[in-house]
Amino acid sequence: MKTDINFYRFLNTQIIVVLLLTLTTGAGYIYMGFIYNTLLPSIVWYTTMTLVSIWGYRLHKEFVDSDLTLEEKIAWYPRAKLFLFIYFSLWTVIFLVNVLSIHIEMHYIAIATQLGISVVSATLLVSEKKLSRITLITLMAPLFIYFLLINDFYSYLLAIFTVVLSGVLIYASTNTYNYLLKSRYQAYSDYLTKLGNRRYFINLLEESIKSQKKENDFKYLLLIDLDHFKNINDSLGHDIGDKLLFEVSKRMSFHSDKCNNSIARLGGDEFCILSNSFTTKEEALKRAEDFSKQLLRDIKAFYNIEEHHLYISASIGLSIMNNPELEANIFLKEADIAMYEAKSQGRDGVIIFNDELSKKVASKLEIERHLHFALQKNEISLMYQPQLNAKKEVAGCEVLVRWNNEKLGEIGPDDFIPISEQTGYIIELGYYIIEESFKTLCDWDEKGLDVKQMSINISMRQFFHSSFIHDVENLCSKYLSKKLSSKIVFEMTETSVAEDIDKLISSMNILKGLGIRFSMDDFGTGYSSLSYLRQLPIDELKIDKSFIMGLDDTKDGRVMVKTILNIAKNLNLTIVAEGIEEESQQEFLIEEECDILQGYYFSRPIHKDAFEEYLQKSYKLNCA
Ligand code: C2E
Ligand code: MG
Ligand code: MG
Repeated sequence: MKTDINFYRFLNTQIIVVLLLTLTTGAGYIYMGFIYNTLLPSIVWYTTMTLVSIWGYRLHKEFVDSDLTLEEKIAWYPRAKLFLFIYFSLWTVIFLVNVLSIHIEMHYIAIATQLGISVVSATLLVSEKKLSRITLITLMAPLFIYFLLINDFYSYLLAIFTVVLSGVLIYASTNTYNYLLKSRYQAYSDYLTKLGNRRYFINLLEESIKSQKKENDFKYLLLIDLDHFKNINDSLGHDIGDKLLFEVSKRMSFHSDKCNNSIARLGGDEFCILSNSFTTKEEALKRAEDFSKQLLRDIKAFYNIEEHHLYISASIGLSIMNNPELEANIFLKEADIAMYEAKSQGRDGVIIFNDELSKKVASKLEIERHLHFALQKNEISLMYQPQLNAKKEVAGCEVLVRWNNEKLGEIGPDDFIPISEQTGYIIELGYYIIEESFKTLCDWDEKGLDVKQMSINISMRQFFHSSFIHDVENLCSKYLSKKLSSKIVFEMTETSVAEDIDKLISSMNILKGLGIRFSMDDFGTGYSSLSYLRQLPIDELKIDKSFIMGLDDTKDGRVMVKTILNIAKNLNLTIVAEGIEEESQQEFLIEEECDILQGYYFSRPIHKDAFEEYLQKSYKLNCA
């Protein structure tokens, strides 16, 4: 941790206490001087004290009123210390004047005052270890010499007493100083990494913003969050997690010290770094990027912790500070937004905060606000996209949700589903989607429309919610017969599968007991391994549309799709290809024995009524 502003504040308070304490008592010397013939030196001394006091008072006012920048405070600090030293030392002057007097009463007063002022200095200068010791010696040494010069048994005893008292005062003030340091340390430092904590960093940031000039003064702020750190805590325990955090922090502070940057741990696996000033924005950016890249490299080098070989990466958000009118929290927020963007862009990278990001966040908040009332306002509707078999007969449909907000217009599920997952709204929304889909399937059955399967997208957050299984059981028994239940397919994306595999499997098995089947959606885009595929009780695989789009481009694209089709066949899974837009794609997939085809080539997602018409037409076509 660097400069401690709190000690400056403390010292400033002491200036005013010293002035009040000593100027009032010092006036007594003029009266004593009048009685015991030392009026002139007393007046000269008191005038000097008053002049020095004016300097002290101005120093105090400068600190309180001028809203000093960090650099100005750093410059103020030694001046304040010098003032206090001179001010205390002046008491030795009046001590010498008085002990030279022929009146023994003046000697008594001089001794008592010198002892008193020594105690005062040791108490008030407690935050300044060195200054307090030097001042104490300056005050006590003349007293000690005075006792020695009396050259009597009792005066030797008093000289020894002076030394003992000095020792006691130094001991007491050192103890208090250590206590001050300790409590300051506890308040401002992080127990695990020994770096500064959030409080320390916010203080530092505020001071540094205050001291920033409007022009030609740019600093960078980095927010660093370790990637998937939770996995290490969960799999290897918190002890290993703590040790890893300590090692990471060591590497980061080594690197920061080299560039004279300040670093703190904000909490958990989140760290913050603040740079020095640069004269241009370009320079600050360039240095920040170089620094961050090196930092990422350092963090990624492997760790050996209790015989575990660990690797970890980090995501960094970068914000450039050059507006002294903004608050510390705003810059931190900017870096935070950029850091989240780095996470969502695949982690292990640096993102610089910009206006576009800020707009993105604002729009997300706007969506979040309106989404909350979407169901209440009847803004949510369902679309059905036909799925066809190789004979071009309708084999089923996929239910796709739509949201049309009066202010924001049409918003795609790719935008609002992730937000509803984050806010938890997906529980309510997901329930509505399942209920409406079941009602539709039941309605079609009553109308004699035979739809072989109905696929419903299920978000993992929804799937793992405590009431999910119960809700589905209830909805099944309310709307669907056993035969209709077995037409339901729940689509899950593989990105989310990795969460809690055992719980996932047991919940899937309960639902399979109702006849519901499972499909692995967007296959090939997430990070589920083939072993997941074998473990999970899934029935169907959906090749992601990106692979279908890649069919026309290269031979590799076709090889990829063939490979996925083979995997599905070998695992005995039904295979669905989505995103078919071209005839050639359709032909290739039929040739390769893909079971179910879906895409704009056949139909876009359509309303319930339109789907019914589509179905009727398809029946007629097939009969003809
Ligand atoms: P998904 O489940 O992979 O859905 C397929 C997406 O591909 C749909 O986009 C569909 O309209 C689109 N699509 C279908 N055929 C083609 C084609 O030939 N070309 C192109 N370019 N696109 C095609 P949509 O409806 O915008 O849905 C996007 C994603 O939002 C879905 O991807 C799914 O992950 C999610 N989603 C949609 N509805 C729901 C829902 O009811 N619940 C949940 N949890 N997620 C949903
Ligand atoms: Mg889907
Ligand atoms: Mg998909």
